[in-house]
Amino acid sequence: MRLVLLGAPGSGKGTQAERLKQQLAIPHISTGDLLRAAVRAGTPLGLKAKAVMDAGQLVSDDIVLGMLEERLRQPDAASGFILDGYPRNLAQCAALQALLERLGQPLDVAIKLDVPSELIVERIAGRAAKEGRKDDTPETVRERLRVYAEQTEPVASYFERIGKLRCVDGVGELEDISRRVLAALPQTLTA
Ligand code: ADP
Repeated sequence: MRLVLLGAPGSGKGTQAERLKQQLAIPHISTGDLLRAAVRAGTPLGLKAKAVMDAGQLVSDDIVLGMLEERLRQPDAASGFILDGYPRNLAQCAALQALLERLGQPLDVAIKLDVPSELIVERIAGRAAKEGRKDDTPETVRERLRVYAEQTEPVASYFERIGKLRCVDGVGELEDISRRVLAALPQTLTA
């Protein structure tokens, strides 16, 4: 199963991706996590990405694409993957399609977690208190939500146009949301 998880910052993509990873036994590939690892490792790429991430903006498309390709070429991704945080704009949609074609691994489905924006702001505030992520300050969160509305919302419309989008209600208990996500997957691939 090759799937993309879509949703605003704080919509629960990361949490649901971790659960799906267990259920489907395929890797969870988060471009945010890959970037944070590069920042922690202090690589040249990480140093470049850090300021952009702290400001809540998008890291350049080529940096993220290069990182993603490297990750998707690792053997564990051959059996499928859950992509979280990518694609985040229309250019990345085109790049992903080309990359997956090159790898001979076309995408099966894009799942969007729908969560109202009031709840998003509340959830991120909670996460900020717990995890202390540097880009969870109120000002940066506002910027990330703005960037999401402007650049990432069109990504969902793109997947809808190509007939691959499934929307899932992302409000409620974790288990219930997981069940809804599983039910939204193409059933031939989960059997
Ligand atoms: P969230 O979805 O909660 O904002 P992520 O962990 O997905 O968190 O991303 C954190 C930051 O990493 C983003 O604000 C952005 O700066 C950078 N980032 C992650 N994925 C991408 C991407 N596909 N393209 C550009 N920047 C990205």
